[in-house]
Amino acid sequence: MSALGSRSNPLRVAIVGSGPSGFYAAEALFKAEHAITVDMIERLPAPFGLVRSGVAPDHPKLKQPIQVYEKIAQTEGFNFIGNVTVGRDVSVAELRATHHVVLFTCGAETDRKLGVSGEGLPGSHTATEFVGWYNGHPDYRDRVFDLRQEAAVVIGQGNVAADVARMLGKSAAELATTDIAEHALEALAASRVREIHLIGRRGPAQAKFTNKELRELGELTNCAVIVNPAELQLNSESAAELADKNNYTAARNAEIFHGWAQSQASAKPRRIAFHFLASPVELKGEGRLQRLVLEKNRLEGPSFAQTAKGTGERFELPCGLLFRSIGYQGIPIPGVPFDARRGIFPNDKGSITDAPGLYAAGWIKRGPTGIIGTNRADAVATVATVLSDLEKFTPATKPGAAGLLPLLARRGLKVVGYSDWQQIDAQEVQRGEPKGKPREKFTRVAEMLTALQ
Ligand code: NAP
Repeated sequence: MSALGSRSNPLRVAIVGSGPSGFYAAEALFKAEHAITVDMIERLPAPFGLVRSGVAPDHPKLKQPIQVYEKIAQTEGFNFIGNVTVGRDVSVAELRATHHVVLFTCGAETDRKLGVSGEGLPGSHTATEFVGWYNGHPDYRDRVFDLRQEAAVVIGQGNVAADVARMLGKSAAELATTDIAEHALEALAASRVREIHLIGRRGPAQAKFTNKELRELGELTNCAVIVNPAELQLNSESAAELADKNNYTAARNAEIFHGWAQSQASAKPRRIAFHFLASPVELKGEGRLQRLVLEKNRLEGPSFAQTAKGTGERFELPCGLLFRSIGYQGIPIPGVPFDARRGIFPNDKGSITDAPGLYAAGWIKRGPTGIIGTNRADAVATVATVLSDLEKFTPATKPGAAGLLPLLARRGLKVVGYSDWQQIDAQEVQRGEPKGKPREKFTRVAEMLTALQ
């Protein structure tokens, strides 16, 4: 029998998920000095994960990595197997039979919970739903957000919260030539939201925005930024955090907040107001969300490990629309160990605990942190682990896609290959042209499949 990783016995890798981590893992595998095939399985007919359906429509530069992924997809030995859900259409055990390695890059598909009363009231949503909706993700196509409300609240002070606030603060004219989904553009054009409250449980020194994303909130045509100077006062631990030269981003953020606090309130029709050291304790309303009860916090603990502790002092914000943007969480897949507390697949350097042959990269490996590029180094590290384990795998040949595709066909599944995706892609681009948009996305799986007929 020829050695595993030789031309006559290639290492067969199934990658589950087609976002940045999946493509960077494929790239790293193809760079190895072994014969390797990659079958990338994706539950949607469209690839690219959060780059397609997470990155905000008005951030086209952040979508440029797609050009790299398109090149990786052209590599000999790469197969895209779209419109197939692992754990439903095909089991992990079946993938283990057709492939030597199953590498999960399925991201963090759900949101963390606040765990406060009223969280489920109509009008209270997750940021994931809103982001998926304006980006045309089929799962969120039919979500309805009551944009007749004047006051909206976003809980959390990370970049997703900034995206949500910015999308609520931008005018339709600022969004019209982006790849925002048509249904979302129409709804946002009619939005009556005037006040957008961005709430952080800790202080301005701990806000997780990156500088560019924060600064951008002050550059919107129709939306002013409000920061109360009194809220920028720091305890000595926070001051020490900002003085640390490795904490440059937070120090720059603090300067941006100070600049806004000192500037005159402008007469723009919308406003984004920052609130620090406040945690939601209850969402209230008769049949729907009307008010948010918050508790003021103080910080406890040493620099860089300060946590928010409630002071008992409460206040209310009237709001009819609320978005929880407090971080994402992975979801389990049958047949794969799952750490429910962290929302990840437990692993050692990408090798999933007690599951030989199963690996993870990206958010499902380390949790929902970092920018798109962070996932490249992360995927490279997992692939290094895979390659160092090569001798542990069965040297027997495995069929890879040649075994998997007939199995999926027998189940009556309509598999979307990479050339199918290219057809969908071309049609989306064509639909966008008359509107001056880079593309008009198909927002339903059925529409994408019809486009292929
Ligand atoms: P994030 O950066 O981790 O921010 C989560 C926010 O939620 C933090 O302010 C956190 O506060 C807060 N939070 C967590 N639990 C809370 C609770 N129980 N109550 C109140 N607040 C709570 O997460 P994210 O915004 O979802 O972003 C995920 C990753 O994607 C980040 O690495 C981000 O930079 C990246 N991203 C990048 C871009 C971009 O580059 N343009 C755009 C979007 C996302 P604490 O600090 O106190 O925990």
